[in-house]
Amino acid sequence: MPTKFVFVTGGVVSSLGKGIVASSLGSILEGRGLKVQNMKLDPYINVDPGTMSPFQHGEVFVTDDGAETDLDLGHYERFTQARLSRANNTTTGQVYSAVIAKERKGEYLGKTVQVVPHITNEIKDRIKALAKDKSLDVVIVEVGGTIGDIESLPFLEAIRQMRTDWGREHCAYVHLTLVPYMKSAGELKTKPTQHSVKELLGIGIQPDVIVCRTEHPFFPDTKSKIALFCNVDEKAVIENLDLDTIYEMPLWLRKEGLDDLLCKRLGLRTHVSNLHAWEKVVATVRRPSATVDIGVVGKYTEVRDAYKSISEALTHGGIANGVRTEMHWIEAADLEKGPVQAAKILKGMRGVLVPGGFGHRGIEGKIEAIRWARERKVPYFGVCLGMQTMAIEFARHVLKLKGANSTEFDAAGPYPIISMLEEQKNVKTLGGTMRLGAYPCRLAKGSRAAAAYSEKIIFERHRHRYEFNNEFREACAKAGVLFSGVSPDGSLVEIMELRDHPWMLGVQFHPEFKSKPTHAHPLFKAFIKAALTFKAR
Ligand code: GLN
Repeated sequence: MPTKFVFVTGGVVSSLGKGIVASSLGSILEGRGLKVQNMKLDPYINVDPGTMSPFQHGEVFVTDDGAETDLDLGHYERFTQARLSRANNTTTGQVYSAVIAKERKGEYLGKTVQVVPHITNEIKDRIKALAKDKSLDVVIVEVGGTIGDIESLPFLEAIRQMRTDWGREHCAYVHLTLVPYMKSAGELKTKPTQHSVKELLGIGIQPDVIVCRTEHPFFPDTKSKIALFCNVDEKAVIENLDLDTIYEMPLWLRKEGLDDLLCKRLGLRTHVSNLHAWEKVVATVRRPSATVDIGVVGKYTEVRDAYKSISEALTHGGIANGVRTEMHWIEAADLEKGPVQAAKILKGMRGVLVPGGFGHRGIEGKIEAIRWARERKVPYFGVCLGMQTMAIEFARHVLKLKGANSTEFDAAGPYPIISMLEEQKNVKTLGGTMRLGAYPCRLAKGSRAAAAYSEKIIFERHRHRYEFNNEFREACAKAGVLFSGVSPDGSLVEIMELRDHPWMLGVQFHPEFKSKPTHAHPLFKAFIKAALTFKAR
């Protein structure tokens, strides 16, 4: 049987949680024993979000193959078993670059190159490319943006054509809308949904299912009203009520019959979806045995999406320990006035995490936070930049190397404990400006890292330019640093931890990208466990 496609579009307003619905659908279908992959089509003209500010776009999610992708791919990987790659995220920028490159090579044989068919064909080719993996049962394709946007039109045209290209019985369309509740009238308003579906019909797409986001439970006649006006069965109107935890979404959508409907529509015969792992997650989230306060010291703390995977992974670490992680988002700049003020702000934290980041702003505040955690033996977890700042703090305050820094922030400093490989002696460079994607790492026996993973070789994802400078390895090791994770040839530091501290560990990679609610990342699980045993003072 050919791979089936489910296309997910959104209308009325943005931020409806399309990504969560698409991911949840993936997990329910997997629960039926199907092999699933999600894909995201992004209408922006950037080739990828790698160059966008976290303030603009939120986090950049990195896949094993080193693609810098939309943060929705993070949801997809957290909710399903699939390991995604650059093939799972396509942007307008990529599509146009490819078409223009082909045009320059003369591949269009003298034709006028146009949006239809050349751009739309390129989009379809990218969608169909996923189906080359014959073992894939279903591909769920989410179209970014909202119906009515100029930018998304070529994508909508392409998915419309897919129905005739690939076969009616192999393509289904899910449209997500908002059904607002008018408090004063005590009514749910279906008009925006009607308009949005009308607009979709105007483009030539009749949705098979309408998923309606609502803050108020549906009234008995809400579904029939939408069904009547939008030309679908009442059963095909899915109530998508605001939930207190997104992890309940797969259970909720199964109860609403979303997967039944789509499987019938696509001729997929399977058993009822097994969501046992999700039931367990939701039970823990509802009844945690304790709460653990973790301070996250960053610089994009007002845009929560900028640290999406970090905040998810901390939550998962809590779930794996049966507790709730209470995150305190601390602006690094607020800690810059010195240790007294830092101590005031960090008081009560049972763990501190410094996430990844770029640029100088906030660095000194992060170093204050790390010093506080090291001196008071509060569990500390440094991720990427968080490891680099941990090394700088150690060099400055334990090795007493005044002015130790990363060459990212002080290119001419006396002690470049973090620097680019090109700037280091006796190392082979990796080529390219960024270390991106999955790299192997060998763990040291008896270390906290090895205890957490219970594996010898691990693979973790990177996104950084700077590295620990090996010239400082020996001095650090003598003063109590254990380099518990290194590249297989030993040349790159991947994990460092302090021997004389209950749990202080920095990693050069981004473990948060591989954490799932149903399978917390081992380091996040171990960090929260350490925080739980620590008595806050
Ligand atoms: N700015 C640092 C580097 O490029 C850290 C990057 C990160 O935290 N992802 O090496």
